[in-house]
Amino acid sequence: MYNLVVFGAPGSGKGTQSERLINQYGIAHISTGEVLREHIKQDTPLGRVAGEYIVKGQLIPDELMIQILADHLDSHPETAKGVIFDGFPRTIAQAEALSDLLEKRGRKIDAVIGLEVEDDELRDRMIRRGKETGRADDNIETINKRLEVYHCQTKPLRDYYVAKGLYRAINGSGNVDEIFQEILKALPEK
Ligand code: AMP
Repeated sequence: MYNLVVFGAPGSGKGTQSERLINQYGIAHISTGEVLREHIKQDTPLGRVAGEYIVKGQLIPDELMIQILADHLDSHPETAKGVIFDGFPRTIAQAEALSDLLEKRGRKIDAVIGLEVEDDELRDRMIRRGKETGRADDNIETINKRLEVYHCQTKPLRDYYVAKGLYRAINGSGNVDEIFQEILKALPEK
């Protein structure tokens, strides 16, 4: 089974393509954004902390985020068979922590699927999603901040994973089904 990172800017289609990968392979899925939004909905102490960062378009601090991910792996035994990591890692520190967490469990990342989309299209998509779903951080001010954070803090991970030979660049604009076919072609043989 695969351990895959679905990587890309906010609005690049990580959630959409992760869903297709789950259906195709029946593997577990961790969306850190979803985990945090659920905590906010339940008004947990973590949700209250996370909400303050999310409304500002900032990343939740690495230490907290890494703890959340480790807890999730431990409390979801089905993740042992393979996981799609959606929205994690977002910093080099998170990427290093992820390798360690997997290594300790005798596993490793098989590939990083990088969904590449221009900023103008990302903005249009997130504004549309905000109107359709009411998602609180899909407003133009927070969107611009999230894109800035992506370029400064998350995009360097592209080179990090290229250097490890794990990065698979996918053109993420266009037809959702065609993008999915490109992803399937880019996955390593199992
Ligand atoms: P997403 O749904 O993946 O776009 O995440 C929504 C928001 O949750 C982000 O803008 C961050 O504030 C926060 N978040 C999600 N995943 C992470 C992560 N791996 N590290 C830090 N913050 C995160």
